[in-house]
Amino acid sequence: MTTAPQKRKYAEDYINYGFACIQNSGILNPQCVVCNETLSADSMKLSKLQRHLETRHREHSSKDPSFFKRMEIVSDQDLIQQALINNSRSPVLKLHTLYL
Ligand SMILES: [Zn+2]
Repeated sequence: MTTAPQKRKYAEDYINYGFACIQNSGILNPQCVVCNETLSADSMKLSKLQRHLETRHREHSSKDPSFFKRMEIVSDQDLIQQALINNSRSPVLKLHTLYL
């Protein structure tokens, strides 16, 4: 018996719409890698993520997923730097990072 890593599949789909999957206090939330806005857990539907991308970031809506992956890496580095500066652990765990 194996449990399929479905969450990983979801996280990979999110990045196609410019979203990373973050865990905040045990709750999974989609976070936009363009504006860093975190949507509520019940916005975790691809149609809602797509809507955010098209209404807020229309200029990016036709971008290749690799564009968002680069942005996500950049924001990860920002988080690491902030954590180092603050000398404290961020309560926000990036699931995407855990899978690497
Ligand atoms: Zn956004």
